[in-house]
This record gives sequence, C-alpha cells and structure tokens, in this order.
Amino acid sequence: MSRPDRILSRKIEFVKGVGESRAKLLFSELGVRTVEDLLQIFPFRYDDRSVYHLIKDVQDGDYVQLKGEVLSLEKVKGKYKNRLRGTFKDGSGFLELTWFQGAKWIVDQIKLNTEYVLYGKVKIYKGVKSIAHPELELASDHQSKSSYLPVYASTEKLNSRGLNMKARRNIVLNILQQLSEKVLPETLPVDVVTQLKLCSRLQSYQWIHFPETNDAIASATNRLKFEELYFLQLKILQQKRIRESKLIGINFDTIGRHFNKFYYEKLEFELTDAQKRVIKEIRADMGRGIQMNRLLQGDVGSGKTIVALMSMLIAIDNGYQTCMLAPTEILAQQHYQSISESVQGLGVQVAFLSGSVKGKTRKELLHYLKDGHIDILVGTHAILEDPVRFDRLGLAVTDEQHRFGVVQRSKLWMKNKDIPPHILVMTATPIPRTLAMTAYGDLDVSVIDELPPGRKPVKTVHRTDGHRSFVVKFMKEEIAKGRQVYVVYPLIEESAKLDLQNLQVGYELLLNDFPKPDYQISVVHGRMKPQDKDHEMQRFVSGTTQIMVATTVIEVGVNVPNASIMIIENAERFGLSQLHQLRGRVGRGADQSFCILMTKTGLSEYARKRIKTMCETNDGFKIAEVDMKLRGPGDIEGTQQSGVMDLKIANITGDTRIMEAARYFALQLLDKDPELSDSNHANTAVHLNHIKAQHQNWGRIS
Ligand code: ADP
Ligand code: MG
Repeated sequence: MSRPDRILSRKIEFVKGVGESRAKLLFSELGVRTVEDLLQIFPFRYDDRSVYHLIKDVQDGDYVQLKGEVLSLEKVKGKYKNRLRGTFKDGSGFLELTWFQGAKWIVDQIKLNTEYVLYGKVKIYKGVKSIAHPELELASDHQSKSSYLPVYASTEKLNSRGLNMKARRNIVLNILQQLSEKVLPETLPVDVVTQLKLCSRLQSYQWIHFPETNDAIASATNRLKFEELYFLQLKILQQKRIRESKLIGINFDTIGRHFNKFYYEKLEFELTDAQKRVIKEIRADMGRGIQMNRLLQGDVGSGKTIVALMSMLIAIDNGYQTCMLAPTEILAQQHYQSISESVQGLGVQVAFLSGSVKGKTRKELLHYLKDGHIDILVGTHAILEDPVRFDRLGLAVTDEQHRFGVVQRSKLWMKNKDIPPHILVMTATPIPRTLAMTAYGDLDVSVIDELPPGRKPVKTVHRTDGHRSFVVKFMKEEIAKGRQVYVVYPLIEESAKLDLQNLQVGYELLLNDFPKPDYQISVVHGRMKPQDKDHEMQRFVSGTTQIMVATTVIEVGVNVPNASIMIIENAERFGLSQLHQLRGRVGRGADQSFCILMTKTGLSEYARKRIKTMCETNDGFKIAEVDMKLRGPGDIEGTQQSGVMDLKIANITGDTRIMEAARYFALQLLDKDPELSDSNHANTAVHLNHIKAQHQNWGRIS
C-alpha cells in the first residue's frame, strides 16, 4: 500500500529551519519527533494581524501591531545591566522600545527613519508606554501572510534558544507550503465529509494554523475534532467487534437451584426495577456464548452487591466458580461476611483471600480453589497473583472499579486458561454517558438508576471551625438517639505524616468532648495493621463504639446502616467524587442522615464550588459532571490508563455532540465495511492503523 502520509512521519530535524539542535529542543520541551507531531500542536489563540493599532489607543498588556518608524536608538547604562532603548513613532504618538539583550546586533540591523511593522506586548509604567523585545519587520518586506497568526504553547527554553514564536510559525508555515492533497489526502470517507460539510484535511491543517477568518478557524477546528473522535470511535468499536466475533465465552444457559432458592426464599426485600433490569441484561449477556465485559454503574447505595451476587449464583448454577475483588481489605472482608450470610443454607462455598491470609490457611484455600471446591472467592487484588488458580472460573466481579486498571482486568482474563471468564466491573463513580462510551468503549454498560425505596436524601451542610461547638452538640443529640457518627480526615501520601497528626489531634479533642465510659470511639487509618483495623471496624459495626474516626480507608463500600452522620474534616482537600463516596457511607438506614463538611475559612474558588455542589445535590451523575468540568476529564478516576485522554484537540466534556456524531458515523462505516477493505476506505484504513500504532499500549485487552 502506498504511504501518502510519509511527509508527516518525516523527522523534524530534516525540516528546513530546524536542524539537529533545535530538533532536540523540540523533543525535550514539547515531545515533538515528527512533522506530524509539530502540526498537531494546535494554536491555543491567535493574534489578529489584520489591523494596525494606534499608539495613542494602546493599553497596558495589549498585544499590538503598529506601523511606524524607529526615530532613535541609544545604549543606556542600568543599575545592574545595560540595555538598548529606542523611540518608535506612528501618526498618533510615541512609544519606547527596549532590548535587554542583543543590543549590538539590533543596532546594526535597524534602519532609522524607515517604515517598519512592529508587533509586541505593551507595558505602561508611570505613564510611559513601552514594548520590550518587539518583533520588527521592514514594511516593504512585510506581507500579511494571514490575518491571524497562531500562538502556540511554548517554554522559556524554546524562546531563549532560537525557537521563539516567530521561528515556530515559520517552520510550520514552511511545512504547510509543502503539503498538497496528494501528500496529505483525505482520511475520512467521502460521504461523511459531504454529509457533514466538513472541510478537507489539508484545508483544516492550513486553516487551523494560518486562518484568514474566524469562520476558517471554526471550520478547521470542527473538522479536526471530528476526525480525532471518529478515529477514536472506529478503534474502540472495531476492537469490540473483533472481541465479540472471535472470543467465545462460557454459555450460562441454565438458571438453577441456587439462583431460584436465593431469589424466592432468601431475599428479604423486593428488588428495584433497575436491579431487575440489570440482572436481566447480565443474564442475557452471559447466555449468548460470547464473553461478557460489562460495566455496572450505580450510585452509592443503589444495591450493586446483590446484583453481583445473583450474577455469581447464575455462574454457580452452571457449574462454574466465581470471584469478587475489592480494592481494600476492609471492603473485601465486608463483602465476604455479607455474601456468606446471604448464601447460608444454599450449599455454596465462600472463601476469603487477601495478603493477610498466610501459611497453612492460604495453602489449603489455594488447594480447594484449584480442585473446584470453592464457589465464591472474595478478596483483594491478592486474587490476581499467579499461584491463585481456579478449576473453572466463570465470572469475575470487581467492585469499585476506579481502583483497578486495565492491566488488572486482563489478569482476570487469564485466570481461566481455556475460555475467558465473564467480567463484571462495578463502579460507584458515575461517569457521564459520553465519557463512559469512550473511556470504557470496549465495555457494555448497565446502569442502576434508582435507589431502593424509603431512602431519605442525606442533608449536607458546610461548617467552619467557628461552628465546632454546635457540631459537637449536634453529634451528642444524634448519638443519644442511638445513631453513630463517622469523622473522616484526609490522608494523602505527600503529607501523610502531618495528616496523621491532624487525625491524632482531632481524635484527642473528641476524647475530651466525648469522654469514656459514656462514649466509645474507634480509630481506623491506613498505617494500622489489618487485624487492628478490622478489630476497630468491627467495634463500630457492632455498635460498641459510637464514633469512628478514620482516614479515607472507609471511603469505599463500608456498610453500617445505623451510622447516620458523616463529618468530613478539611473537606476542601477532598475531590468531589471522593466527597460523594464518603457521603454515601451514610443514608443507608431509615433515619434522616447528615453530612457535615468542615473547612477552614477563605477557600479557593474551586474548593468553594465543590463544597457548594455537595450541599446542593445528592445526584452522583450531576456531581460527576461538575467534577469533570472543574478538573477536566483527564483526572476522572479510573480513566487515566485508558489512553483516551491524550486527545490533541477534541474535549470529551465539551464536545459531546461531535463525539456522538463521530460514534454514529463510525458505527455506520463498520456496519457497511467491517474490515475497511473497500478501496473507497483505503485511506481511512491506513490512517486507522497509523493511530493504532501510535496508541499501541492502549487497551491491552483485545
Ligand atoms: P452499593 O451499590 O453502594 O454497593 P449496596 O449493594 O451496598 O450498595 O447496597 C446498599 C444497601 O441497600 C445494602 O444494605 C443492601 O442490602 C440494601 N439494598 C440493596 N437493594 C435493595 C432493595 N432493592 N431494597 C432494599 N434494600 C436494598
Ligand atoms: Mg458497594
């Protein structure tokens, strides 16, 4: 096949105006290796060069283009450094020019009393207008190449080592002049370009860098965003199709004794409609002979565990083993206990595995797992280790997905050497649909969008230190009613020592306010031994202690329905989704629950917005959306490894409509021509392969 894109893959050092040392600099500062890399650094704004400003009108901080003459140049001795000073004049007034370096060279270059076009940033200090290090070009040489000049992200080093904006522009311009439809052919199918009235690929590169009009910028931006998202979708959808067509999965065709007995005899409540629907989806998915890869989304407290358990019972009914992975020891323990209780009397063997299961117990467990005795293995990521072998693993569930990456998922696949197990990934971090579609593009998505009946929304308030005595009083009132309270402190690696001190101080203050023997307080943090943590946790679960002081180890999953108050200390230091997860620990019983966000005064704008959002809504999806707007999608937990986030121009949060169009057209193309073997799609196929090669380590599963 021809390689029409060769010009793009050319090493940047061979481009006119670059050379070896600048190429090195471009790579170290911007990661640019090839012509394509450089072209794909898009301008973040443009300078308008269609007008000449007048000196009399310029304001401090303006970028201006002036036309006039340099009247004089003189060297000035400064306190520390000498500089070169000039006077520039246009029809409307005078302005000072300054150079701190290169005086000698500049004096030789500049012709006095000759018309120049000048560009630079205005500074007004004590009424004197000046421009430092202006760009100057003889008016006779000046040809306005474009009304708008691109401004690229740059660095100090680039600017000082001969790759200032002007040099960058010239290099890009030089490349663009060598492009033609022949060397930069259209990559999108013709009918897509026509239907969406997109400008051509060549046009879009020219317009995005050197546009003549605002419309050209818009048109080029739209085309490039669409192209980027279209190929992303093609890649994801194609992977998914390949997986579905090639990968046989275990066919769970019976619903048997365990499932039915549990559903009709043991289940103490009515499933919500959403739970029923999702169980149906999962059941259908596991019964079509293709491996399931499904994401189960549901807000905290929506009842995902029961859905997972019932899915596991289906697997067991079909003679297979299952496992459930949780991100922390505490959470795994809790799942183990609740699952063991739930399946009592069903004749299902449940076992627990974590790093703390050692010696003989561990050896026995591994033995019973290998010979197929154990039906459900609950545990931490210790399950992923090599010596852990199943006889017939049929379904693997991971809880709270955001702690597990793509690599872990692929390890689960390998746990059944004959045929990959079905995978169910549960997450309580709700991800807006468009993002889920992309970040987890190879997963199908089920959503539990309904909470069990009778839940009262948690009331959330914001308080500062000045309110502390009221907060203590309120805690006492609620404890007197028999309720329990969480007090959570942030703990992050970088400031772990200080954070633990904070927790310790807070704990001692609480001991004063809530003295023994009337009150009992549990403490749990990440530096404790698992057994101690567990012991303290159990004291709280059993109601022996009324207050649980903890770091974020309790963030995920822990279920104590009697705990109805969540106090989050230094709430400004938590991210939105974390706050939402923490709040999800209360509001699980019938009582009115409260979440109190304690902060210092004088919050940053972002922190204030986060706290405000928490006080205003309990809706996890809304919170996720605000979160994404505040932080950008690159930070959404769990999506970092997805590789989706190195988009060069499109924005997953902002460009949802383009994304949906891209997905629609990508689906349409693959329906018509799954292998992209039609000669009309040759360029599309070449480009898709090129993109796949670029993101090689993306989505290792497939
Ligand atoms: P999450 O989705 O956050 O993991 P859980 O699975 O821990 O939520 O469920 C939260 C609580 O709600 C548990 O105590 C569970 O027993 C209960 N629950 C789940 N489904 C229902 C239902 N349909 N009706 C009543 N309670 C339910
Ligand atoms: Mg849960």
